[in-house]
Amino acid sequence: MLTSVPSVPLLIDGCFVQSKTEHWRDVVNPATQDVLARVPLATPNEVAAAVAAAKAAFPSWRKTPISTRARIFLKYQQLIRENMASLAATLTAEQGKTLADAEGDVFRGLEVVEHAGSIGNLQLGEMANNVASGVDTYTLLQPLGVCAGITPFNFPAMIPLWMFPMAIACGNTFVLKPSEQDPMVTMKLVELAIEAGIPKGVLNVVHGAAEVVDGICDHPDIKAISFVGSSKVGTHVYHRASQNGKRVQCMMGAKNHAIVLPDANKEQTLNAIAGAAFGAAGQRCMALPVVVLVGEARHWIPELVSKAKGLKVSAGIEDGTDVGPLISCAAHDRVIGLIERGIADGATLELDGRNVKVPGYEKGNFVGPTIFSSVKPGMAIYDQEIFGPVLSILEIEDLNGAIEFINANPNGNGTAIFTQSGAAARKFQDDIDIGQVGINVPIPVPVPMFSFTGSRASKLGDLGPYGKQVVLFYTQTKTVTARWFDDQSATQGVNTTISLK
Ligand code: NAD
Repeated sequence: MLTSVPSVPLLIDGCFVQSKTEHWRDVVNPATQDVLARVPLATPNEVAAAVAAAKAAFPSWRKTPISTRARIFLKYQQLIRENMASLAATLTAEQGKTLADAEGDVFRGLEVVEHAGSIGNLQLGEMANNVASGVDTYTLLQPLGVCAGITPFNFPAMIPLWMFPMAIACGNTFVLKPSEQDPMVTMKLVELAIEAGIPKGVLNVVHGAAEVVDGICDHPDIKAISFVGSSKVGTHVYHRASQNGKRVQCMMGAKNHAIVLPDANKEQTLNAIAGAAFGAAGQRCMALPVVVLVGEARHWIPELVSKAKGLKVSAGIEDGTDVGPLISCAAHDRVIGLIERGIADGATLELDGRNVKVPGYEKGNFVGPTIFSSVKPGMAIYDQEIFGPVLSILEIEDLNGAIEFINANPNGNGTAIFTQSGAAARKFQDDIDIGQVGINVPIPVPVPMFSFTGSRASKLGDLGPYGKQVVLFYTQTKTVTARWFDDQSATQGVNTTISLK
């Protein structure tokens, strides 16, 4: 192993330790190909040690008062704020997105940490007084035990922060498996969590890929798994872990559509679409890779192309950059291949981002904004999640047809409508079969007092990340039905029926 680059540690039982594995992979700056660090693919013994530490920490953590747990997250949010600039710089170096967008990535996770600080209110149970004579029923939301999280490369700050703060605030202990492509900012956030006071063993981190994930799915001491990533891997994780008796939530791939009605505010709409299609180089599960232009809005294509042409493609650390590199050379080659298939399949290439040149970053994984019109189902650029800066445009005559078209797509992560008509927007929100709806909002990711509510093929499991739903996911609802006899109460005699009297 080379010693010139740092090795990303594991976190086991409160100690940051070097893996003993013989299998490592490089963490690479996607704008330069510089190797920033090496990340281990942890051994089965290391995964077992992380789970054992989490299991050992659970009995005392579950008894830790809820206000003590909440206070750790109040301190944690402060530490994240104080370290925002350095977190964003690390994130941009390993992931590629712009510094401003990297701060956004950290900030959307920080909001969940703030939310974890109000766990006292979130974990309140229910009570019904006098459900029968002298009988009360109430609920306890009790932690499950060891929970695990498996996260993707595209939000290496926000998505880990969707998971372990809420799980731990609920009284669970946790094993996190970050993306092996960009684990460095996640580890900085983990260091800050330890500094904020998370006790040893309550949070553990193992790195790795398929083998480590399978080990997590199979481990008998893990009670619940949160997964965010591609549909292929998420489906595998859901089935494997469910068969092993675990509670599982999987947020997966997407193909989000926006409808543009001709009465929409043109300038605002085209700005919103260009930002959501090409921001983060299209590597967001809530990006907008498909636009359906309704009726006369079909004439807006040249202006959209001109906005896309005006976006600056460069390294995320460069001032004014709008579109950074793709995460890896493999992702770059896949996106270029899909653009070529789009041309071969007969879509009209309105803007070609294949040969973009970025002075000073000649080795970067850049693809410029690319736009196709006359796209149809059956073309690879429509049927597959591209996860690159490629926008497909279709034209449909009316709103009903557009809604029917979107509902026929299997994915259900997000969608948006652009219109000035309240009636059209209301019809859309009622009839569209997608879990997260934007009205003149291109990326409708809910803030943490709500939950992330992707649906259909974009999700497996009932309950979404953060908000109230995740409190139910990370706890077991126990109902207690209680009667206290006072000495004066009349004796009821033997009751052989099921009814409470
Ligand atoms: P990915 O599925 O390749 O990786 C996700 C995690 O699974 C990583 O930790 C990875 O190490 C692990 N993994 C990879 N291959 C595996 C295998 N064969 N077996 C077991 N584990 C494996 O996803 P990615 O490329 O890192 O992220 C991009 C994908 O994530 C996109 O499809 C995107 O839509 C999706 N995503 C979805 C949401 C959402 O909320 N719905 C949010 C962000 C990203």
